[in-house]
Amino acid sequence: MSLTDLTIAEARDLLRAGETTALALTEAHLEAVEGAGALNAFVHHTSEIAREQARAADERIRRGDQPDMCGIPIGVKDLFCTRGVASQAGSRILEGFRPEYESTITDKLFRSGAVMLGKLNMDEFAMGSSNETSTYGDVVNPWRAGNSDANLTPGGSSGGSAAAVSAHLCLGALGTDTGGSIRQPAAFTGITGIKPTYGRCSRWGVVAFASSLDQAGPMTRSVRDAAIFLKAMSGHDPKDSTSADLPVPDFEAMLTGDVRGQVIGIPKEYRMDGMPEEIDTLWQQGIDMLRDAGAEIRHISLPHTKYALPTYYVIAPAEASSNLARYDGVRFGHRAKLSQGDGITEMYEKTRAEGFGPEVQRRVMVGTYVLSAGFYDAYYNRARKVRTLIKKDFEDVFADGIDAILTPATPSSAFELGAMQDADPIQMYLNDVFTVTVNLAGLPGIAVPTGQDRRGLPMGLQLIGKPWEEGALMNVAQSLEERAGFVARPEKWW
Ligand code: GLN
Repeated sequence: MSLTDLTIAEARDLLRAGETTALALTEAHLEAVEGAGALNAFVHHTSEIAREQARAADERIRRGDQPDMCGIPIGVKDLFCTRGVASQAGSRILEGFRPEYESTITDKLFRSGAVMLGKLNMDEFAMGSSNETSTYGDVVNPWRAGNSDANLTPGGSSGGSAAAVSAHLCLGALGTDTGGSIRQPAAFTGITGIKPTYGRCSRWGVVAFASSLDQAGPMTRSVRDAAIFLKAMSGHDPKDSTSADLPVPDFEAMLTGDVRGQVIGIPKEYRMDGMPEEIDTLWQQGIDMLRDAGAEIRHISLPHTKYALPTYYVIAPAEASSNLARYDGVRFGHRAKLSQGDGITEMYEKTRAEGFGPEVQRRVMVGTYVLSAGFYDAYYNRARKVRTLIKKDFEDVFADGIDAILTPATPSSAFELGAMQDADPIQMYLNDVFTVTVNLAGLPGIAVPTGQDRRGLPMGLQLIGKPWEEGALMNVAQSLEERAGFVARPEKWW
C-alpha cells in the first residue's frame, strides 16, 4: 500500500510502531501534490516548511512523545493566517500578504506535530459553492462522471481542501464552514467533513467572512480521522471571545460503533423541488442503515427551515460587509496604482474595485444595503429574529428526545465547472439549502459519503447534532459510514 493511501489513524499507528517516518510520509505526499497541478488545489507550496516539520516530528517520535497528529501531512485552506506564508483568502486584495502571526488553529496543529504541505485554493473570502470565485482560478474535482472528461466542481468554498483529500494529496485538510463550505464540498468529493459547534474552535487568525457563523473544521477520508483531527484543533482561546471555555473530549474514544437506542430525527422540510430522485433514495437508504444499526427513527418537523436561506443571505453579507471594510489598500496586500490628483478616497475605491471579485462585491453591496438606516429593521433585524426561530426549531426537537438529525448534505451531486456561469446567483445559493440552518443555529453537522449517483459521482448525507456533542454525532456518523461501506475513489486522470 502506498503511503498516500493511509488514513490519519493508520499513519499515526505506523509512526508509533516505527514502521514509517514523518519524512517518508511527507515526501510521498509532496510528490503527489507535485503531480496534481491539474487539480489546482494547492496554491502556495510550503515543501521546505513541511520537510522541517517532518524532521522535527520524527525527532519527537524517537523521544517517545507523539501526539495523534504528530508527523501527519495536511493541507491548510488559504483562509488561515500562517506566519510568513502567503494567506490570501483566495482574493486578489490580499496579494502579497504574509501574516506576522499564526492562527490559533494552525498553531495548535503545529504544536501537536502536524506537517503543512501548503495552502489550499478556495472561493474568494469563502463566498461561493463551486470554487469558481477564487483569484487563483477554479479547482477541479478529481471525480469525473462516467466516461466524460468534463471538469466538475469540487464544491466550495473549501474546494481545494476537498479535492486535495479526495485525490490523496494529503491525509486531511483544514476547511471552514459559514453556510456549508465544509459539508457541501465533502459531499461532492466523497469525503467526510465536520463543522463543529460554533465556539468549539478558535476563529483567531482565520480571515473573517461572517463572524457569527464561521467555524473551522477538518476534512478527512474517515470519521475516525475527523475525530482525531478535530480534537487537535479544538479548545478555548482567550484571543477569541466566542470560543467556549469547555473541556475537549477524546472524540475518538467516543466512537463505539453502538447506536442502539439513539433517536434519529428525519425532518420533512429537507426536500427541494426538482431534487434528483437519487438524493431521496440515498436519504431513504441512510434511514434504513441507521435503523438496521439499532437506532430509532422518528419523523420530525423543523417548520422554519424554508426561511433559512433568505435569512442566511441577509446575515452573512451584513457581517461580511463590515468585516471586509478593513481591506482598503492601507494595511494589507494589494493597493491600486493611482493617477495624478487621486486622493485617499480614490485609493480606497480603486483598490477595492480591483481587489474584490464580482461575488464579493455583490455581498458587500447587499450587506451595506440591509444594514443601511432605512432598511435595517426590515431586513437585518427581521433576519435576526427568524434566526432565533430556526434555532428554536432544533432546540424543540432535541428537547423532545431527538439525538441527531439525518438529512441529505446537498440537493445534487457535483456539477460541471462553468454550468452556473449565466445562472441567477440564487441558483448557486441553493447549494446550501440543507446546510445553512446548522450554521444559523450554531450546531455541529457532519457530511458522510454514503453512495454514488448513476454517473458514479459521490453523494453524501448530513447528520446534525446537539451543541457540544460532536463525539456522539461522530459516533452515529461512523455507524452510517460502516453500513454505507463507501470505498470508491476517483480514478487518477491528472
Ligand atoms: N456557499 C455559501 C456562501 O457562499 C457558504 C460559504 C461558506 O460556508 N463559507 O456563502
